[in-house]
Amino acid sequence: MAGGAAAAGFRVRRTAAAPGPVKVLCWSERTEPQDVYPEGISGAIARHLRTLPDAKVRTASIQDPDQGLASSVLDETDVLIWWGHKKHKEVLFDRVADVVARVRAGRLGFIGLHSAHWSKMFKSILECTGNLGGWRHDAGPERLKVVAPSHPVARGISDFTIPETEMYNEPFDVPPPEKTVFFSYWKTGEQFRSGCVWTVGKGRVFYFRPGHETDPVYFHQEPLQVVANAVQWCAHRT
Ligand code: ZN
Repeated sequence: MAGGAAAAGFRVRRTAAAPGPVKVLCWSERTEPQDVYPEGISGAIARHLRTLPDAKVRTASIQDPDQGLASSVLDETDVLIWWGHKKHKEVLFDRVADVVARVRAGRLGFIGLHSAHWSKMFKSILECTGNLGGWRHDAGPERLKVVAPSHPVARGISDFTIPETEMYNEPFDVPPPEKTVFFSYWKTGEQFRSGCVWTVGKGRVFYFRPGHETDPVYFHQEPLQVVANAVQWCAHRT
């Protein structure tokens, strides 16, 4: 995993009707281990996005008032980045309904990370079970191949490897993606559509598979750049 210029992941694109900074809300239930993610996965991603131009970035968690998802907060959010694992069932239905309605209306983009595949948010937005064919902890290196290099989410990204991962295997019960951008392989033969995009109503949705909480995935440059690219795409900026 190479380091590199963080700003490479975020291109400022203004039009005549300049919409201003992209307003991003990084949400996590904050059950991530403190020794791996002292600020949560949400905090690690926010720390990266804040180094990039033209973004206004906040974090929220399930412990916040209205679980960090008050309508007044969502009114000031263009893209919601979601990580959860153990507390999916605790997320309030009315907050899910608010988010889903905003996504469908094109007022909010949604990025689901890793175990978000079983979150109420992800399943409700895509109307699917999000079920996997299998998974295994301590699965070793994951090779991510860029299979849609022209898609904005893949901009500046070449095939890369994450050294420590949890494996997910197909089948992945989701609607057919508008585009599969990344595909993952493990030496043990499993494969997974690890980066997928959909348009739901007028809203843009991206799912990115890496992000198991005991692996320091969101301290690596490539996954952070993928998320930064996805923020731009989900905000209809690319
Ligand atoms: Zn996991």
